[in-house]
Amino acid sequence: MPNPVDMNDLGHTAYEVDGPIAIVTIDRADKANAVNQQTLDEMDACFSAAAEDRDVKVIVLRANGKHFSSGHDMTGSDEAIGENADPEKAKGSSDLDWEERGLQAIFEWERIHYLGYSRKWRDIPKPTIAAVQGACIAGGLMLCWPMDLIVAADNAHFSDPVLRMGIGGVEYHGHTWEVGPRKAKEMLFTARRFPAEEAEKLGMVNRVVPLDDLMDETMTLAREIAEMHPFALTQAKRIVNQTQDIQGFYSALQSGFDMHTVGHGNAMTINGYPVLVNLSEMKKQNG
Ligand code: ZN
Repeated sequence: MPNPVDMNDLGHTAYEVDGPIAIVTIDRADKANAVNQQTLDEMDACFSAAAEDRDVKVIVLRANGKHFSSGHDMTGSDEAIGENADPEKAKGSSDLDWEERGLQAIFEWERIHYLGYSRKWRDIPKPTIAAVQGACIAGGLMLCWPMDLIVAADNAHFSDPVLRMGIGGVEYHGHTWEVGPRKAKEMLFTARRFPAEEAEKLGMVNRVVPLDDLMDETMTLAREIAEMHPFALTQAKRIVNQTQDIQGFYSALQSGFDMHTVGHGNAMTINGYPVLVNLSEMKKQNG
């Protein structure tokens, strides 16, 4: 379950209100803003505070440091993914007891903290804007994709290399909606980085700005939106989100999440660990 968060004692995030704009900052630059349960619980508390504050019209999500987010904090470092990942290191990774409770523990924990939080933030009844610089990898996508708008610095890049762990993509499987089916498959199959400019062309990003101007441009956009009537903004957001939901957005997300859990289960049957950390072993098993 989510942990109670003391808004006066945030360790992984920062929260401030600047006029009608609430700014949620991921503040783990020393970990390339990898997120663990504490980070996610704090982010959720910040988003809730912004949603409940009647003076807040627009919410900005940003991150301190060179990178927006290297994804889920699997090891305490951001080197979890790949052929040489160390399963021992990764064991301390998550706050879940999969060794005792198996796949059920993973399913329940990720349903709340990954799929659940991202979906909840996507439906906050106020406009949200992500400001993204540097790397936005795997779990990082699940932080910016649920925002309504994305402003990217010209050095930003987006990728989901989770296939390298033997799993078909991150828990919030928004790829198809974000970049269209063909590019979604390329993103997943190749695990390559999509630079900001390409992400903009695909409609995943609203605009690309010079890195030095990222926060100025984001705040200017936020203030422009904050001039609109707040209830009209809520209506507009709900109509667009509902349109996607009617098209099957949430059902598809849930199916994607279930399939992701199958990936964890397959890894556990092969190496007793929820991700395939040794790809040569995987190749052996699969012939
Ligand atoms: Zn997972």
